[in-house]
Amino acid sequence: MKRILVVEDNENNLYLFRTIFQKNRYEVIEARDGDAGVELAAKEKPDLILMDIQLPVLDGYKATKKIKTMEETKNIPVTALTSYAMVGDREKALDTGCDGYNEKPINPETFMAEIKKYLAGRIIQNIA
Ligand code: MN
Repeated sequence: MKRILVVEDNENNLYLFRTIFQKNRYEVIEARDGDAGVELAAKEKPDLILMDIQLPVLDGYKATKKIKTMEETKNIPVTALTSYAMVGDREKALDTGCDGYNEKPINPETFMAEIKKYLAGRIIQNIA
């Protein structure tokens, strides 16, 4: 079973991701701040990381930078969870080393297809 680490501080979003991933038979592990996310990534080595940008302790950019510089985690795909309204976040996320991004609120019709591409290693840097 593939494991997805969700780094997200919003409980409603966590609930949504947990529900969607479990329904699709993925194991979900969760962190609620950037620092805990980095720690859990190194410890659990998930197949994919969903990284919120606005996070306490360490933001999503800094957490991704750390993940991408550590030998044991640098090859794990990271997709940034960016806000639809925050246009500059996408470019910054990709510059920081994220492999792609997903906009919040997610589109339930395309979200799982995007996630499956990341898990298959087919990274799409869908720059608009
Ligand atoms: Mn947040």
